[in-house]
Formats: sequence, C-alpha cells, structure tokens
Amino acid sequence: MKKAAVAAVAVLAAVLAALLAYDGIINKEATADFFAMNTYASAKITGADSEECAALAEEITQSLDTDILSRTAENSEVFLLNKNGGGALGKEMRGYVSVLLDVCEKSGGAFDFTLGAVSDLWNFGGNPSIPDSAALSDALSHSGYKKLALAENTLTYADKAAVIDFGAAGKGIALDDIREAFAEKRIKEAVVSVGGSVLLMGEKQFTVGIRNPSGNAGSYIAKLHIPAGCVSTSGSYEQQFEENGEKYHHILDPETGCPAKSGLLSVTIISESGIMSDALSTACFVLGHEKGTALAKEYGCTAIFITENNEVFVENGSKDIIEITDGAYTLI
Ligand code: ADP
Ligand code: MG
Repeated sequence: MKKAAVAAVAVLAAVLAALLAYDGIINKEATADFFAMNTYASAKITGADSEECAALAEEITQSLDTDILSRTAENSEVFLLNKNGGGALGKEMRGYVSVLLDVCEKSGGAFDFTLGAVSDLWNFGGNPSIPDSAALSDALSHSGYKKLALAENTLTYADKAAVIDFGAAGKGIALDDIREAFAEKRIKEAVVSVGGSVLLMGEKQFTVGIRNPSGNAGSYIAKLHIPAGCVSTSGSYEQQFEENGEKYHHILDPETGCPAKSGLLSVTIISESGIMSDALSTACFVLGHEKGTALAKEYGCTAIFITENNEVFVENGSKDIIEITDGAYTLI
C-alpha cells in the first residue's frame, strides 16, 4: 500500500474508534432501584452522566422525604409545621403549598392535603383497619384546607390540630426536583418512577404502562405512547385492605373521611409538572369521571379514567396515545 493510503486508513480507523467511544459515552446506561417515600422507586438513565444521575435520583428523593416532606421524620419541614401549627416556609415549601392550595380550591375540596390525622386513623401504611367512628369525626373536624392561611412566606393553621400530609403529591415533587437537577447533566434519556408517578426526559416517544387496577403489580392493561413529561396514576388498588367483605383503599373523600367511591378504579394524569400530575390524579379519583374531566381541563392536562365497568376514557387529549392491551378493558 502506498504511504498516503496507509495514512488514510489510519485516520479512518482513529475516527471510527473515536466515534465508537463517543457512542459508548452518550449511550452509557445506568439504573437504580430503591425504596423511598414508602414506595418502590427506580431510575433508568442514558448518557455520559448516567451513573451520577442514577445515584442523584435516589439521593434527591430520600432527602426530600427525610428533610422536607416526611410527616414522621423529626425535624423535617412538614413535621415542624405540624408540630408548631404553622411557621415560616422555605422558598420551595412555599411553592408546593401554594400549588396544592390551588388544587384544593379548584377541586372544591376533593383534594385536601390536611387529612393527616384521618389517614393516621386508617393506618394504610401500616396495619390498616376501619377507624372508630367517634375518632374519625373528631379527626375530620380538625381537617380541611380552609384551616390553613398562607400569607407571604408564613403558613398559619387556624386549628393547631390540623395535620398536613404530602402523601398525594410528594412523589411528583420528587420528580420535579430530579428533572431540575438533571437539566445540568449530560443525559440523553431518563425514566424515573417513584410509586405511581413517572418522569420521562428525552427527545423520543416513550411507552408507559398503565397498571392493571384489579391485577397484580406487574400487570398492565394499556400502553401510553407519549413524549417527555410526567405521568401519575392513582388507584384504589394501592394499599387496600378488606374487612367484612368490603374493600377499603387509601384515597379518601374529605367529606366523609372514608375511601372515595366515585365509580373509578384509577386515574392517570399527564402533565409537564410532577406535583400537578400527582396531585391531580388523586383529586380526579375523588371527583369521579365527569367532575375530574372538568378539573383536568382547567389545568390543561390529559386524563385517563378507568371505571369500575372496565371502561377507559381519554379526556382532554387524543385517544391515539393509548393502546389497550387487555381485552377485559374497553376504550370508549
Ligand atoms: P399513592 O400514594 O398511591 O401514589 P396518591 O397519590 O393518590 O396515591 O395519594 C394518596 C395519599 O394521599 C394517601 O395515602 C393519603 O396520605 C393522601 N390522601 C388521601 N386522600 C386524599 C385527598 N382526598 N386529598 C389529598 N391527599 C389525600
Ligand atoms: Mg397523587
């Protein structure tokens, strides 16, 4: 071979090696599986910083829980607010509280993050049972978002026995924090799920399963084909127990303090924001199909309702995003 040809081959080989190395970096995958916020969480990330980001997803979720949102971790921001009947709010907490108060109002109180004392009586996270009715009405009398007043950076509880609880929105808040942290990192794609809330980052169309509301945790009834964003599902299948032949689940009707009966098995909300998708999925579950649709529209979110008759409705969005994979369910 002539000298020039040898040089050309060498250059080509070097370019190819560099390209392969680059591809190895931008497509480097990392995963993390962890338990946080009382639920299972996982992260699957592609990109040069994937390993760092997988670890970061766990770190952010754990510290958000322990330092900020947990109702039981002593010295968390929420723990201290509940203990003191209010107080000064950090910048982030002020943001969460004002978003959630807005959801409380727009949902007509179907969403209410002051049901902590009522949730405690049901003890869904532990060994659940039907609460004593006198205790339930007492706890209910100390609940209600109207007992909270937010002025500037201070939250005041009109009833010091009220207990705020981020159970319905904390997982979505974690996803918002994770997305913000990832924005500065070199990643191509990320899928992070915390319980029933999922964050999707990247340019592609993602496929997300909707859980079978009457099956086991690993089975799905539909696939969603959607771009980047947040997706949350709230369902009566989570944390349920049976007593005297009746099933009880953890999404409560703030009017009665008992599990919401709205004819639904689950609601899935798609939003750019995790706090919105998480809070709205709970709110819409309590409201039911018709009123839930109105609320989702007000916030510009697509909502998927699965009714107790196994009917599936896609509201405020195209039906093209959904593919039913279980013949027992019908897309209307
Ligand atoms: P999951 O915890 O399964 O993701 P949700 O996001 O729907 O489910 O939140 C349910 C949790 O929110 C309950 O465990 C309780 O702590 C709290 N909660 C229950 N009912 C309501 C309600 N009507 N409004 C706000 N929070 C609620
Ligand atoms: Mg929720």
